[in-house]
Amino acid sequence: MAKKENKIKTMTKTMRCEIKYNKEIYKLLGDIQYEVYLLKNKATTLSYDWQNFSFSYSERFGQYPNSKELTGQVWISGDINNVLKEEHAKSVYSMTRETAVKEAVDKFKNDTPEIMKGNISIARYKRDGSFPIRAKQITNLIKQNSKLYTSKLALLSREGAKERGLKNGQIDVELKTGNGSNVILDRLISGEYKLSDSKIGKVKNKFYLLVAYTFTPEKVELDENKVMGVDVGVNVPATLGVNFDKYYRQFVGNGKEIADFENQVVARKKRIQESRKWAGKGSVGHGIKTRTKAVDKISGKIANFKQTKNHNWSRYIVDEAVKMGCGVIQMEDLSGISEENTFLKTWTYYQLQQYITYKAEEKGIKVIKVDPKYTSARCNKCGHIHIGNKDNWRPNQETFHCQNCNHKVNADVNAARNIAMKDIENIIKQQLKVQEKHSKHAMKYLV
Ligand SMILES: [Zn+2]
Repeated sequence: MAKKENKIKTMTKTMRCEIKYNKEIYKLLGDIQYEVYLLKNKATTLSYDWQNFSFSYSERFGQYPNSKELTGQVWISGDINNVLKEEHAKSVYSMTRETAVKEAVDKFKNDTPEIMKGNISIARYKRDGSFPIRAKQITNLIKQNSKLYTSKLALLSREGAKERGLKNGQIDVELKTGNGSNVILDRLISGEYKLSDSKIGKVKNKFYLLVAYTFTPEKVELDENKVMGVDVGVNVPATLGVNFDKYYRQFVGNGKEIADFENQVVARKKRIQESRKWAGKGSVGHGIKTRTKAVDKISGKIANFKQTKNHNWSRYIVDEAVKMGCGVIQMEDLSGISEENTFLKTWTYYQLQQYITYKAEEKGIKVIKVDPKYTSARCNKCGHIHIGNKDNWRPNQETFHCQNCNHKVNADVNAARNIAMKDIENIIKQQLKVQEKHSKHAMKYLV
């Protein structure tokens, strides 16, 4: 199978938003917090009572009591809810109340074996704990600006609303965002993320909505038949082409950036050297060590700058390959090039290629190095390979002009498309054979 699929499941994360201070709202939230705290402890006590009852029942009748027969509820938490509804947390919205009871009962059930062994004691909830708010209770999320959102929270029961002279239990709140939480709220609004059951809690006198959300990370299908070719070069650090879309092209980065930076730094280096030449002994300061240090620092700066750029460019390239579904990235094998003066430049390309390689492999993309010979001289349209007489087919650095089919195209794009071809080395070899035969044939007739 050529198709490869990265398996990704749904993820749940939480993020907190401060609920903007408002005297009445904070009072209300404090009241709910208090009621829920009492409710959870009461629910725990009732669970304990039920357990004791069922033990004595089983001792007496030889079997555990059936909660459904006795109370009409399968869920013991449902039953406890019914018992508690009459007297506790009556003003709290039903979903918050029921969820809180269920949490307490479930915790008790979970803890029971350990409680029986005497390892832990029965949970007691604290006054300052958080309380649940279900996804359905959070509605009308609206962006006011990137730092402020508004929402309606269903917090009070009809009775609770009436007590407070409110029309209903829907409370308008303002949410303050920070640390990029606005991006998540935007995605919740757009539907890209789904709101999940959340909580409201208090930290240092501030109430927070602890938003839980789920999302499915982008599904990536990588096809090994889809190849991205990466051509590294002077003017444009990297040019991209693919083997399945003849219109696709991407220029990554700007070579001028590095050249400018280098020139700037080299000029500074020169100034330091000049000042060294002209400065008298007294003004040189701490001598040669300090001055060499300054020059070293400059070389380090260039290297750092290139490294940062190479990281950015490689990340962009690999993201682009993922977006295009390319299961393979092909690049020139630069290890054979060792001409003088080009060494440093080659080293920069080599680093870029290295970064591309490990980032690609992290995404499950295969990296293949191809022989760079003739990848710039081959016409990607007709396949003709130009040998010698560069002035004709490469009139300038940017242009490739095929002398066989007259095709004109950006030279880097032409190279990138050749590099993106499967089995390009063999294709070039075969084409050279054909051209050789053809020229011999022509020669024979010329003679
Ligand atoms: Zn051509």
